[in-house]
Amino acid sequence: MKNLFILSILLLSTRLSAQQIPLNQYGLAVVKDTLTYQSLVKTDPSQELVRVTAIPIDVRYATDSNFTRTVLYPYPAVYIRRPVYEALLKLQDMLEPMGLSLKIYDGYRPYRVTEKMWEVVPDERYAADPKKGSGHNRGAAVDLTIIYAKTGKEMEMPTPYDDFTEKAHHNAPGVTAEAAENRLLLRTLMEAHGFVALETEWWHYALKGAIRFPLMDIPFEHLR
Ligand SMILES: [Zn+2]
Repeated sequence: MKNLFILSILLLSTRLSAQQIPLNQYGLAVVKDTLTYQSLVKTDPSQELVRVTAIPIDVRYATDSNFTRTVLYPYPAVYIRRPVYEALLKLQDMLEPMGLSLKIYDGYRPYRVTEKMWEVVPDERYAADPKKGSGHNRGAAVDLTIIYAKTGKEMEMPTPYDDFTEKAHHNAPGVTAEAAENRLLLRTLMEAHGFVALETEWWHYALKGAIRFPLMDIPFEHLR
């Protein structure tokens, strides 16, 4: 009887946490408060946003040298859901003996930052429409490249990061053989580790099944 009572409390709290996610003005469920976030993590530890420490980062959104010309993050950090980080760490282990390393430009992006980007650049070719949200808001998408571990120099890729031209597309013609090869190396490794490519941005990957992670609007400062 006592067990039954505990079970029903557990079920109730699980159901509550799913319902607690309020809908925003576009009817999207966006997690805005840390209590809801913590209760989600409690019922499903894979929901945790982990800070990347074991892979180099280069976060342009924490500076004004990005396509919005605005500082969007309070400090340079990359947070991603735990399974995303675990997959990337496995990939990083594979690169190490080759003298290579991943370098991450961006991971989790609070929903309010997506709104701000849209204010500055309301164009779906460059920014995600807040009416839809993005894999970055789910903490399940990552922007990255490969560097030479010793020098930190980026491998030659078809374009710089956040170059929103057709040259950044996976099937873009007029790319040097080396850049095409490196782009394919990144794609092959990412796909082998459970990620899905985005045809229009060689640097963007989302973990398969990213939709199971809710959109989030918790600022960096409120994540540990
Ligand atoms: Zn991206």
